[in-house]
Amino acid sequence: MPERINVNGILSPPETATISPIDRGFLYGDSVYETLRTYGGRPFLLREHLDRLRRSATQLGIPYDLATVEIDREVERTLSDASLPEAAVRVVLSRGAGPIGYDPEGCGPPTVVVYVRPCPVIPETWLREGVDVAIVRVTRNARSALDPAIKSSNLLNNFLAWREAHGLAAYEPILLNDRERLAEGASSNLFLVRANRLLTPPLSEGLLEGITRGLVLDLARSDGIETSEETLQADDLRHADEAFLTSTLKGVLPIRRCDGWPIRHGRPGPITRRVLASFEQRVQAVTKTGSAPGSILR
Ligand code: PLP
Repeated sequence: MPERINVNGILSPPETATISPIDRGFLYGDSVYETLRTYGGRPFLLREHLDRLRRSATQLGIPYDLATVEIDREVERTLSDASLPEAAVRVVLSRGAGPIGYDPEGCGPPTVVVYVRPCPVIPETWLREGVDVAIVRVTRNARSALDPAIKSSNLLNNFLAWREAHGLAAYEPILLNDRERLAEGASSNLFLVRANRLLTPPLSEGLLEGITRGLVLDLARSDGIETSEETLQADDLRHADEAFLTSTLKGVLPIRRCDGWPIRHGRPGPITRRVLASFEQRVQAVTKTGSAPGSILR
């Protein structure tokens, strides 16, 4: 059984794992999560992911340190129990079980779930040819309503966007914010290239500070590519020279078409290919040396 679930330190196959029906994560989406993956069997950027989990928890007032297990230890334990060549890991931290009502008093301790499964493989053709995206009508949650910087398990905004894109036969929706500016994908960050400059929306537009986004910005800069975090409109994407998505599970994924129209020549351009190559080199380096997770970004 390749999939393993760890609930508060108890390991089991998914069919028998349980959480309480009055867990606030289940009742209200009152939980935060991370998706990470392994390269060469080792968790990639584990420290960055757990730091972001802690930041998300802090923003919601979920007491990370009151979890009854050590999260990094449970990630390692679940991975070694599943013993997969490459795994995707979802770590969920919820406020825990408690009485109905919004008052968090009497809730807890926080529930920790670690779910390990085989890492989905991005087909080679997607990397060579790119994927299709659609700019959807569903807008990204306003920062003043539910800040997208908090990686919460309250994912209906993302799901509704995905459903709209799916209806349009697009792989990933691109969400605008409430000021009609480009924000991000439902489960990815967005980059575009214009006049040899690599552009991505700034965090102030309301988006998740993607760990792959950060790595790509660092790699591009050290590769001599001019980068800028700047406010962008839908037409900036439609008329871009090149565009790509980034995420832990997608890596660097070129965009072929937006709203059915090709991005420039409809195939990955030179800067996208350079970024993809640097990203793959970085991953290769980690895979070969087995260097400590967390030593990758800087
Ligand atoms: N934006 C959203 C809304 C996401 O859910 C994700 C990842 O799932 C990302 C961006 C990419 O973040 P990361 O590179 O840390 O995986």
